[in-house]
Amino acid sequence: MRSHWLTDVLEQGLREVPTETLQDMAARHVLSKDFTRVEADGRVKRISPTLLSNECRLARLKRYRGHASQPGETRRNMRQGRPSASSSIHFIRGYFGEGMVTAALKACAETYVDFVGDGTEQVTRAGQGLGTLWPAYDVLGVSPTMKFECQVQGANYLAYPDVVLLREGEMELAQLKCPSVFAINRYRNDTTDLRRRYEPQAIAEMFIGRQMGLPIVRNHILAYSFEGFVPGSAEAKGGLEVNVVVETVEWREDMEQWVLSQAEEILEDDRNADAGRWVPGYPQENANKWPCSYCSHPRVPSDTGMVGCEENEKWETPSTSSPSPAPMRTLAPPPQLRR
Ligand code: SF4
Repeated sequence: MRSHWLTDVLEQGLREVPTETLQDMAARHVLSKDFTRVEADGRVKRISPTLLSNECRLARLKRYRGHASQPGETRRNMRQGRPSASSSIHFIRGYFGEGMVTAALKACAETYVDFVGDGTEQVTRAGQGLGTLWPAYDVLGVSPTMKFECQVQGANYLAYPDVVLLREGEMELAQLKCPSVFAINRYRNDTTDLRRRYEPQAIAEMFIGRQMGLPIVRNHILAYSFEGFVPGSAEAKGGLEVNVVVETVEWREDMEQWVLSQAEEILEDDRNADAGRWVPGYPQENANKWPCSYCSHPRVPSDTGMVGCEENEKWETPSTSSPSPAPMRTLAPPPQLRR
């Protein structure tokens, strides 16, 4: 059976691009993530695609209002209010994976946009055109320098799409995910879980880009693990090396209304919080079950002085309870369609 074109391109890129180049690009990608962190730490309330994939309404609201895992905490690798070694692994794995896969996709493209200096200057470079099995494509931009931003019905939206592609005259996105090999193997058998976790984010990215005038028609969720298939396995015998699952989300007009209604719910929760009425968390018995078990906030206060997720007032400062200001930056001009 023929695999998805992104799977073929990714395998080809990873096979052909020198390891030093992949390493270098992945390292630069990890370093560039500092830039998004500075923005995320700003006090402008923004609706990001990941916000919409949050299953807990309270966690979503707290993130929107800038609540750290604990009041005053600045570390990111937090789980249930404590620093977590495995969270660090997940962050770094995701960033390195993104950098490595982005390098491979760029190498196989006809052309790709590269950023030089501090990222404000852009150049278009010729790729190596390695993707010979499928129609050629261009990479128009990658995270974190490619930024989608807009304001709609009083909500500020901000997204950093991982990859923006132009292929056969159509604009597409790719959302890169590097979960554990256990998750990937589960997704290979059944993509229901993958859709539940990542589809809201895929839809929101398309929505924000389309609001900026970009004719985005689909978003590929490209999930891969750092472990390739074991030599001799059925997959390896079938010619596959990289453990990849691609799930494509096609844009539909009704998705716009879905994003707007989610945003309205967030704004309403935010207004209610300003008035001291907070959405409740999950029952306390859920503390060690998904999603509380993976949440950065602890579900219940502890005798060590940790603040429980529903003690919201302990996070609140005048800046978090102020209304959302308008975006500081104007929309980026849409990339030119060349095909
Ligand atoms: S701990 Fe559970 S209830 Fe509390 S914010 Fe996190 S996911 Fe929601």
